[in-house]
Amino acid sequence: MNSNIEDKLGTLRYNIDKESHILVNFEICKNCKPKPCILGCPAQCFELINDEVRFQYEDCIECGTCKILCDKDAIHWNYPRGTFGVAFRKG
Ligand code: SF4
Ligand code: SF4
Repeated sequence: MNSNIEDKLGTLRYNIDKESHILVNFEICKNCKPKPCILGCPAQCFELINDEVRFQYEDCIECGTCKILCDKDAIHWNYPRGTFGVAFRKG
């Protein structure tokens, strides 16, 4: 039985849109010291590279954690359009 989050994430299926459903204002991120999105995103969509926040939406599991954690209003959050996004499987 799969027990860790990486294994669980590996069971997901995605229909990836060409456009990101989440937009991040990186100018605001420059003045954010704690950057809770980086540790808080379970799919590791946020990364810190050369002291700059990078974001990729393709692995997003649509949990909404980043929007809750970001208290600087830097994240414009939407669900993916139509049939795009992640598909969960029971069990
Ligand atoms: S918490 Fe918000 S402002 Fe801070 S780095 Fe993440 S997205 Fe940017
Ligand atoms: S919604 Fe969840 S999985 Fe998607 S980027 Fe935000 S924290 Fe990561």
